[in-house]
Amino acid sequence: MTAYRVAQLLHEGKAKRVYGTDQDDLVAVEFKDDATAFNAQKKAQLAGKGALNCRISALIFEHLERCGVPTHYCGVDGSNWMLVRPVQVVPVEVVIRNVAAGSLCRQLPLAAGTALEPPLLDLYYKDDALGDPLLTEARLAMLGLLSADQRQQLERLARQINQHLLALFARCDLQLVDFKIELGFTRDGELVLADEISPDTCRLWDRAVQDSQDRILDKDRFRQDLGGVIDAYGEVLKRVQQHCPEPRVYG
Ligand code: UDP
Repeated sequence: MTAYRVAQLLHEGKAKRVYGTDQDDLVAVEFKDDATAFNAQKKAQLAGKGALNCRISALIFEHLERCGVPTHYCGVDGSNWMLVRPVQVVPVEVVIRNVAAGSLCRQLPLAAGTALEPPLLDLYYKDDALGDPLLTEARLAMLGLLSADQRQQLERLARQINQHLLALFARCDLQLVDFKIELGFTRDGELVLADEISPDTCRLWDRAVQDSQDRILDKDRFRQDLGGVIDAYGEVLKRVQQHCPEPRVYG
């Protein structure tokens, strides 16, 4: 690893800023304190959220890496910065659901909390202006975003990630209800896990708590105005930290 310098802003998303660096094969991601929900119709600043998500994501990326899952992750630097390999992100959000919640229960006659076995894999077209619509296999093929082989590879990787995350979170006494991941191709054409894995992108319920609101330790606390968002994210970090080594510092 070599020292690096942060260069130009490449992209600003809802929760992160992505910068180039003076190294050709390295980009720097800054995790922001901005919280958004419902396609950014609801917005707030939550002090400390960026640092919590950066650290939780780093611990999880390193855990997945140890499990043999390829990721874009290189290391962290300071509280809010993550260094990653540049990837061409596939404009598809992959959602895996182990338990029915959220949009699934709004769209289908399924009670929240219903176990889904095997886990349901849903693909959404990543486009805020279109509201991230659900993709069918035919729509995915029509858009030509992925070959049949790549789609299979993406699905296999997502299901593997789910198994590793289920096991890790179970050790933390957390139920992984569902989560969203994004994948991308490196310059060498390798499909790797990208973006983040945090309470912003996962639903996590405290297994020791029965109450259907009190058990929520993820962004649903913000979506549903339950309060205690930062405390909940802090609790997730505390538990994940107990089962993962300190994340490596880049540079
Ligand atoms: N999710 C996400 N980004 C999105 C949409 C969903 O990270 O743009 C996550 C969300 O936090 C949850 C899972 O994906 O863990 C499934 O979300 P769902 O489809 O139920 O949508 P929601 O209820 O959040 O509208």
